[in-house]
Amino acid sequence: MPFWNKKIETLPRDELEELQVKRLKDTVARCRKSRFYRKRLKDVDESLFTSPMDVSIIPFTTKDDLRANYDFGLVTVPKEEIVRMHSSSGTTGKATVIFHTRKDIETWSELVARCIVMTGACKTDVFQNIISYGMFTGGLGLHYGAEKVGMLIIPSGVGNTKRQIQLMKDFNTTVFHATPSYILYVSDVMVHEGLDPKEFDLRIGFVGAEPHSEQTRQRIEDIYDISVFNSYGMSELNGPGVAFECEEKSGMHLWEDSYLLEVVDPNTGEALAPGEEGELVVTTLSREAMPLLRYRTGDLARIIDDGDKCSCGRRHVRISRIKGRCDDMLIVKGVNLYPSQIEDVLMRFPEVATNYQIILERVSSLDSLTVRVELYPKMFNGDLRKLKKLEVDITKSIQDEIAVRPRIEFLEPGSLPRSEGKAVRVVDTRGEI
Ligand code: AMP
Ligand code: ZN
Repeated sequence: MPFWNKKIETLPRDELEELQVKRLKDTVARCRKSRFYRKRLKDVDESLFTSPMDVSIIPFTTKDDLRANYDFGLVTVPKEEIVRMHSSSGTTGKATVIFHTRKDIETWSELVARCIVMTGACKTDVFQNIISYGMFTGGLGLHYGAEKVGMLIIPSGVGNTKRQIQLMKDFNTTVFHATPSYILYVSDVMVHEGLDPKEFDLRIGFVGAEPHSEQTRQRIEDIYDISVFNSYGMSELNGPGVAFECEEKSGMHLWEDSYLLEVVDPNTGEALAPGEEGELVVTTLSREAMPLLRYRTGDLARIIDDGDKCSCGRRHVRISRIKGRCDDMLIVKGVNLYPSQIEDVLMRFPEVATNYQIILERVSSLDSLTVRVELYPKMFNGDLRKLKKLEVDITKSIQDEIAVRPRIEFLEPGSLPRSEGKAVRVVDTRGEI
């Protein structure tokens, strides 16, 4: 079983926690150098900390705090030590910006290198990084990690799908990184061009940046005949390299020497018991330019609570697939649901193609939920009874999952808009007049 940094990845829990306490104290001390935290930490005495969970006496940091202290309000180093700025892809409100020193970039790359090697990818692989470069962290984050590992990188970025396919073919790409929605679209284009996605040299895919279901992962694995690994991160916590799946694929290992994890009730902020689903709250433990204390990620997941016994040998905690962001939650006819629940059901049906959309409307003052689903027409040969049966089956399966009866609308592949970045799955017009 390959490791990038075996010592730290397999560190026994007591040593890992000891390291966390030390780094937490250093981080709190460092934070006092920033305008924002100097005030926040007035009543905190980190010298008394003996356990990582002593972090809980510190107030949360939120995205609004980052916005309110735009631009350098959380920075702890002189400006000349900053070598990079990134930004979150959030589309509402003011962008949140994150700064890095040279050492921050080095630490981030090390974490990403661990993730890459953990999946079985290695130096001899040809790595096509099919994700946005620039302010978004996905491109440069994986790029630097892959360079550390020594892979041959094709920094193809996102878009120009035919060229992506050409590059894969000409340079025998073996590993890719992409959003799950875009890589499914790439396979549609391959098929359209008369190519078989299985005939390429691909063997491993890294997918992340947006919620996706286990069914979607399996679908990508089947289409390309490869092994696909879930990658979790966010710009506020560097970007990719926060948590990633190992070859066991039973949750994503979150690097606890760099990130201190708590799971809280998103409404009350109260700590939840291990294994309960809630909002991830993360403290950075090795960041210089812009450390964050108890950052409310807005992402919902749970800790895989089996005593850190992953058979890969790593002791770092594992988290479940991300269900969505707290603010992705839809309330339909009074029922709380997440788009990922609907996706999970859809992707179980082989007739369903790679794209779907959820439409929420208010009809005669009642909520109405429509799921628009692209289908593979070749599955039907004009047999309308089969189509009707599929509609009934999908409606029932979704209703069983979310307790709301949807209306299903079938479409041909390619009918729905595609996004090259994060997919936009929900159109909610209920607030409009
Ligand atoms: P950004 O800061 O623009 O990179 O966006 C980060 C956000 O993307 C996270 O807070 C998550 O909501 C989402 N995200 C990233 N990776 C994943 C993943 N593997 N699964 C689900 N959501 C993800
Ligand atoms: Zn593992």
